[in-house]
Amino acid sequence: MKITFLGTAGGRFSTISQKRMSGGFRIDNLEGKNYHVDPGPGALVRTYQFGLDPRNIDGVFISHAHTDHYNDAEILIEAMTRGMTHENGVIMGSPSVFKGYQQWGPCISKYHRSKSRNIILKPGDKAKINKNVSIKGCKTIHGDPAGIGFQIETNHLKLSYTSDTKYFDDLKDYHEGADILIASVLRPGYKAIKGHMSSRTFTDLLKEVQPKLAIITHFGLKMLSDNPVKEAKRISKESGVKTLAAYDGMVVDVNLKRIDKSKITSLKDENNKLYKVERKTVEQLSTKKDAADDLKMGKSYKKDFNK
Ligand SMILES: [Zn+2]
Ligand SMILES: [Zn+2]
Repeated sequence: MKITFLGTAGGRFSTISQKRMSGGFRIDNLEGKNYHVDPGPGALVRTYQFGLDPRNIDGVFISHAHTDHYNDAEILIEAMTRGMTHENGVIMGSPSVFKGYQQWGPCISKYHRSKSRNIILKPGDKAKINKNVSIKGCKTIHGDPAGIGFQIETNHLKLSYTSDTKYFDDLKDYHEGADILIASVLRPGYKAIKGHMSSRTFTDLLKEVQPKLAIITHFGLKMLSDNPVKEAKRISKESGVKTLAAYDGMVVDVNLKRIDKSKITSLKDENNKLYKVERKTVEQLSTKKDAADDLKMGKSYKKDFNK
């Protein structure tokens, strides 16, 4: 099983500025199936950028009705259903994602819901995704009051995702028993912001849940300027739980027998390669003769255009 981060930006400003990418994360080979979680803006593009295929997903999970979590959901559903021509996969999300709640959502059109199994989860609800995999909705306290985190359970592990939430007393109960805990930790240190966890409150949660591995993601601008890696090290030290700060293109190759011994790899950025090829082409073109030709061509374009 692999967890791949296609984005680690959190909140509006990190997302709008794309200081970090915002494509959510993928869980691949979870009992043979692949899932895309919280596909924010750019999820489709980032999928290709890191050499993955959006067509081989078996599910799209959307925790709540905020743009940085649902923006690319519909296009990924199209990829999953071969452009809505095949019945395939599962869409899991909060009631706000499917039906709308107060001013939030809905985030997926009836059309896009129509070719996949729909699972709507409230906190505490449990559903089977397939034979050996179940999923439980976890409570959040956040801007979208109907939002959820979730916990996936297989015969081999429990994987928990807090999504966006502030810390509260019974948060630990929803994530109890997690082997891996992925969390939105928007801010460093004590600087909590409404509806979100900071490193400080996440450390408290880790002491209670005691997973084998924790991964922080969904970083706001303050966290990015303070360096998430430094924060993760401090969280590890204070909580006693091995904690990683996710980065764009990071893959955690999960060792199911020894989760604390899981391996990290970095995916190659395919777009970077494209840019390099382009640069080479431009260099090749910029011999004197080619440059003169370009100039001529440019002039004729301009002439045609200005006619
Ligand atoms: Zn968010
Ligand atoms: Zn949110």
